[in-house]
Amino acid sequence: MATASPTVTFWGAAHTVTGSMHLVEANGKKLLLDCGLYQGKRAEARARNTQFPFDPAAIDAVILSHAHIDHCGNLPNLVRQGFSGPIYCTPATRDLSAVMLADSAKIQEEDAEYLNKKRPRGESLVQPLYSRKDVVGTMKLFQALSYWRLHSINHDFQVKFVEAGHLLGSAMVQLVIPASPKPRTITFTGDLGRKGMPILRDPSEVPEAELLISESTYGGRAHDGVEMLANDLLQVVERTINRGGKLLIPAFSLGRTQTIVYFLHQLIHDGRLKPLTIYVDSPLAAAASTVFKLHPECFDEETALLLQDDPDIFGENLVRYVRTVEESKNVNRLDKPCIVIAGSGMCEAGRIQHHLKNNIENPNNTVLIIGFQAPETLGRRIVEKRPEVRIHDRMVKLNAEVKVLNGFSSHADMNELDAFLKPLAGHVKSIRLVHGEPDQATPLMARMKGYGFNDVAYPERGEKIVL
Ligand SMILES: [Zn+2]
Repeated sequence: MATASPTVTFWGAAHTVTGSMHLVEANGKKLLLDCGLYQGKRAEARARNTQFPFDPAAIDAVILSHAHIDHCGNLPNLVRQGFSGPIYCTPATRDLSAVMLADSAKIQEEDAEYLNKKRPRGESLVQPLYSRKDVVGTMKLFQALSYWRLHSINHDFQVKFVEAGHLLGSAMVQLVIPASPKPRTITFTGDLGRKGMPILRDPSEVPEAELLISESTYGGRAHDGVEMLANDLLQVVERTINRGGKLLIPAFSLGRTQTIVYFLHQLIHDGRLKPLTIYVDSPLAAAASTVFKLHPECFDEETALLLQDDPDIFGENLVRYVRTVEESKNVNRLDKPCIVIAGSGMCEAGRIQHHLKNNIENPNNTVLIIGFQAPETLGRRIVEKRPEVRIHDRMVKLNAEVKVLNGFSSHADMNELDAFLKPLAGHVKSIRLVHGEPDQATPLMARMKGYGFNDVAYPERGEKIVL
C-alpha cells in the first residue's frame, strides 16, 4: 500500500463560483472532482477551458457532483485532449448531463458561426470550444453509480454519492482512499441545496471526513423562507392576471423552471389558483423535464406520491412547451393574460430577451425575477428598475411591474450552510471553501472558525493541500 499522503489541488471555482474542478492525487492515481465550464469574458474563458493545468490523458477518472454546466460543461474538452477514463456520477446526473452537454455544444457551434460571420478578412476561422460530436464521445465514458452505497473502484479508492438536494441527481461525494494505518477520507459537497424545497429530497447530513471541501455561494446572505414561496408566487400571478397582464419569468432551464412549474401545478391542483395558460419557452427545459419524469427515485416522498396520482406534474396538460422559433414569436406577440417562463436566467441571451422587448412597456405586465442577477446583466438592470433598458440595440421603456423573489434559490443560504456544517466541528480536520465570491466565503470562514474548526481556508486557484 502506497504511503505518500493524498493531495488536492483547487483548479476551478477557487475565489469564484464558476468552472468547478479539483484534482485529487492519491496512491499514484489522479482523480478529478467535477470538470465544469468556466464562464466569464470570452477570451479568458476560452483560455481557461482549453488549457488544462495538467495532462488530461494522465487523469484516471472523473467524479461528477451534478449536471449544472459549471460542474460538467468542460468534460468534452477533457476528452478531446486525451482523457479516456470513466466519469462516475448518479444515474440522473448522467441523463441530465447528456441533455446539458448537447445544448452547450450547440451554443458553442452557433457562437463560432456568429463570430466567423463577423470575422475581419484574413483572420483565421474560430473553432467551437467543442462540438456535438465531442459530446457523443464524452457520454460513452459515463458510468452511473447509485446513491448511498460505497462503491469500490478497482482497488484504488471507494466513492459514495450522498443526496445534496440541489438539482435532480445532485450529490455530495465521499471519497475513501485506502492507506495504512487507516483509510484517508475526503468529502466534497458539490453544490448544497435547501431543506423543504419541492421535488427534491432534502440534503443529507454532510459526511464526516478528514478534509471537507465545501461550497460557499451564499456564505454571507440569507434567503426568504421556503414556506412563503407558494403564497408569494400566488400573489404575483393573481395581481398580474387580474389586470389583464402577462407574467414573464426568466429562469434557468434546468432546475429552476421545473420548480416554478411544480409550484404553479400545486396551486392549481389545490384550487388556490384558477387554471391559466403557462408557456415554457425553452427546448432545453422541455428536454430536462422529460429526464425529471424518468427519475422518481430522486424525488422527495410528496412529489413521488403526487406523481403516482398525476403523472403530469411537469407535463403538457398544464404547460405548453414552446419548441420552435415561430411558436416562440407567436407567444411573445400574444395579447392575453398568461405566464411565460423562458430560458436564460440573467436575461442576457435566449428567448426571454424577445419576450421582454415586446412586453415590458405595458404596465399591466410583470417581470418576476427568481434568481441571482450578476452586475452588468440585463436582469440586474431590470431589478434596479431602470426607466429604460437596452435590448437588442433598442432602448425599451420599463413600465412593467418588477417583482423579486429570492427564495427560489437552489443553494443553501448562510444559515442553512451553518446548520449543515456546524455539527462537523471536531470531526473534520480541515475545511477548504470553494465555489464562492470573497464577500460570501470570507464571513463563512470566520463563522466556521468561531464554531471550533481549526483549519479553515479559502484557497487560491492552483493551491494544494496535503492531507
Ligand atoms: Zn449547481
